[in-house]
Amino acid sequence: MASSDKALESANQAARDAKQDVQKLRDEIDNLKLITQAIWHLMRQKTDVTDEMLATMIREIDQLDGKIDGRYVRVPEPCPQCARPLTVSTNSCVYCGIKVDRKSPF
Ligand SMILES: [Zn+2]
Repeated sequence: MASSDKALESANQAARDAKQDVQKLRDEIDNLKLITQAIWHLMRQKTDVTDEMLATMIREIDQLDGKIDGRYVRVPEPCPQCARPLTVSTNSCVYCGIKVDRKSPF
């Protein structure tokens, strides 16, 4: 097989892999939407919360990162010891090493 054929096959495989990854993410999003809908319907049935209250809360959470853009972006907390931003995925400061107790599950 010529090197151009190998490059073409490699590119085609990468495209197929990317397409599968996108489909998997779409499936996961659809599942999360379903779960979110079910939780919301349960909350509405079992409590006094309304669609308007949910819409207000969505706007409040949307603007927590300083932008109303339909997305929730986690803003890194400052380290309690050195005040540098804490990495989202660790439980210690990458700059000074202090252990950090996360207050928010998000
Ligand atoms: Zn620190």
